[in-house]
Amino acid sequence: MTEKLTPMMRQYRRIKSELPEGVILFFRLGDFYEMFFDDAQRAAPVMGIALTKRNNTPMCGIPFHALDSYLAKMVRAGLKVAICDQVEEASAGKGIVRREVARIVTPGTVTGEEVLSSSENNFLLSVYKSGNATGVALMDLSTGLFFAEELSDVSQLRDAVARHSPSECLVTEEQAEKEGLSAVLAGCIGEQVTLCQDWPFEYDTASDTLTRHFGVHSLEGLGCEGNAAVAGAAGGLLHHVRDGLRRNVDHVRSFSMRSTGDRLVLDETTILNLNLVPVQGDGGANLLKVLDATKTAMGARKLRQWMLVPLARLDAVNGRHDAVQEFFDDRALLADLRGACDDVRDIERLITRIGSGGGNARDLNAIGRSLSAVPALKELFGSRKGLLHDLAEQLVHLPEVVEMVASTIVEEPPLAVKEGGVIAEGYNADLDELREIAVNGRKWLAEFQAREQERTGVKNLKVRHNRVHGYYVEISKAQLANVPEGYERRQTTVNAERFITPELKEYEGKIIGASDKAHALEYEIFCEVRDKIAAETECIQRTADAIGALDVLAAFADRALALGYVRPSMNEGDAFRVVEGRHPVIEQIPDAERFVPNDTVLNCNDSQLIIITGPNMAGKSTYIRQVALIAIMAHMGSFVPAKEAEVSILDRVFTRVGASDDLARGRSTFMVEMQETANILNNASEKSLIVLDEIGRGTSTFDGISIAWAVAEHLHNKVKAKTLFATHYHELTDLSRTMKGIRNFNILVKERGDSIVFLRRIAEGAADKSYGIQVARLAGLPSSVLERSNEILANLEENEMSEAGQPKLAKK
Ligand code: ADP
Ligand code: MG
Repeated sequence: MTEKLTPMMRQYRRIKSELPEGVILFFRLGDFYEMFFDDAQRAAPVMGIALTKRNNTPMCGIPFHALDSYLAKMVRAGLKVAICDQVEEASAGKGIVRREVARIVTPGTVTGEEVLSSSENNFLLSVYKSGNATGVALMDLSTGLFFAEELSDVSQLRDAVARHSPSECLVTEEQAEKEGLSAVLAGCIGEQVTLCQDWPFEYDTASDTLTRHFGVHSLEGLGCEGNAAVAGAAGGLLHHVRDGLRRNVDHVRSFSMRSTGDRLVLDETTILNLNLVPVQGDGGANLLKVLDATKTAMGARKLRQWMLVPLARLDAVNGRHDAVQEFFDDRALLADLRGACDDVRDIERLITRIGSGGGNARDLNAIGRSLSAVPALKELFGSRKGLLHDLAEQLVHLPEVVEMVASTIVEEPPLAVKEGGVIAEGYNADLDELREIAVNGRKWLAEFQAREQERTGVKNLKVRHNRVHGYYVEISKAQLANVPEGYERRQTTVNAERFITPELKEYEGKIIGASDKAHALEYEIFCEVRDKIAAETECIQRTADAIGALDVLAAFADRALALGYVRPSMNEGDAFRVVEGRHPVIEQIPDAERFVPNDTVLNCNDSQLIIITGPNMAGKSTYIRQVALIAIMAHMGSFVPAKEAEVSILDRVFTRVGASDDLARGRSTFMVEMQETANILNNASEKSLIVLDEIGRGTSTFDGISIAWAVAEHLHNKVKAKTLFATHYHELTDLSRTMKGIRNFNILVKERGDSIVFLRRIAEGAADKSYGIQVARLAGLPSSVLERSNEILANLEENEMSEAGQPKLAKK
């Protein structure tokens, strides 16, 4: 079998065998990348190209210059691709050319703009357990962002995945099985779990990888000295990207350890239930859409991060609110900043591309022009205090870069960098001369032709060009008598003779060489400029980060002004009070009814757990979500939709909203509901905010009431977390009789004949009725059914009432 293989196929087999499983090999053959065997069969339909067969070998190929767009298709389909290039020139008699895998591109490490969304980071996440600690590291290779978090246990992994929505997760082969990590990850992001070797994650190796990369003596400065879980996750990830995937990581210049203690933790369910960010395939309304008034890609990505990982430290939150307030109070400042941001491109991703030897002249212009906004920005905030001042300090003015780009690159350069037209006139004298020769060549030839016609009297004397002979003079047979001295015959055709002259040959050398030389020189200058910019990667990244933050803060002010938000006053105690709060997303829905604001008071004293009753459709779910959203917005640094708001610093927000089906994940509704409830009861503290909507609905009434009752008791007596509990079980309103922290509220409706009107106002006290039949009427049930329902209800109520007029809990 093997002896039949050509040397080239042997080389292919060897390279393929060295790749991790599942990676598709793009094998460079001349002007094409070819795929063979199974790779070809998998890739052809994904890329929409023809699968062919040669000697029974399935194969397909793409032109090398179209690599990026095909790569995008592969990665979007979740595939991993190894790009194998020829690393020497093909030459006769030397046998087969050497080929090497240049890089491996995977969904979590793709950097091409064809695949990435500018408003979202593209993360590769790695997880590593050591003892009881679980470390998670995240890298966005397209921006150079690299950080880690420590989780208190593996169950938080799912939430970390929800928080950062990585495109790919990395876990070591050993832990994938032993610790069951891959099972958890597969539950969150399906197939994009990559297994890798263990040793790069071990503390000593990982520590070595990190300290060498960042040029530091110990992990102390990186915040993970002695932390085997975090250092392992981070070092293992860096090693995997750099050595396993052979990717350039020079632009990864910083690493931060994010303590979850400083952050408001949102779990997966909460992120989904509260519609914080758009969910794939669901174009519905969400908070991000309402708040995203950012102008730059850096701002859009940062807003998303701030939303999914809000702050939980009083000074930090206040710092953001102070900054938003400055913009809010000074509209000129706001307009100036937003105006300046208009000219800022995605310099974070551009610098990555440029730093790894990619990028074109337009990218250089984009960076240069974006950076030219810096002095104005520094000036705007130089005299300010607090966060705005700190961010202004973080901006680095790079006049040399701005100046260099402006003087070297033409206004609107072409995409290609090796075909000329990139470098501005007047920058390099040699280049200008070469260009002049190339351009003037045609003119000179025309003049030469006219001169020779004149001199010889041969009117149809022509200067022509072909590939074999270069430039020549053609004279028809009839005129041969007039050929002057010095003409050298080169070729005879049917009707004419062709000549060259020394003068013509000399000029030909110049013309032909000039244009090639000019292109080469332009490319050289382009590379010089590119490298000089790349040398400033760290400064440009810091600048990009600060611009992103300024952009978000200004966007908050812009939204606050446009939508009537107010600055929340934060406290470290337990006062949570909202006056005329609104649901930020529902109030923006076009053509909806006018939104009715409502108040909220929560504290650990007499309003710790609020039970909200009221008929279906009254607005219970809306109200309790609105409170959670206001809390989250405040912790992000945003102003909030209310007339007044006092918000206590929280550690977590939990929600269990609606009877959402989770059939896709194969869990029954009731099971999911109980799992989520368990998560809340096990992890909430007195600093948490809990929103419970219709707990216990997925089972029989008596089960449901009993569970809901016990959960409420537990939250009140043991957890002491601020809780909003919407329920259609009126029985629960009895809880307030014996527990001082529990209060009843209901959402008012007005009866009008047989029907009801929703008032959308919340009021103290329990709802007296559930109005199910009235709601059914509004929904259009036939009147005969409604009448019969009323009859049955009357019977039931009669039988189920105890002597004291209370509903009986237990039957029989
Ligand atoms: P419930 O949970 O009590 O069944 P929902 O919270 O789902 O009711 O609200 C039903 C509908 O009423 C929502 O779709 C929303 O559009 C509207 N609604 C709720 N609260 C308000 C309000 N305060 N102002 C205006 N409309 C509201
Ligand atoms: Mg509801």
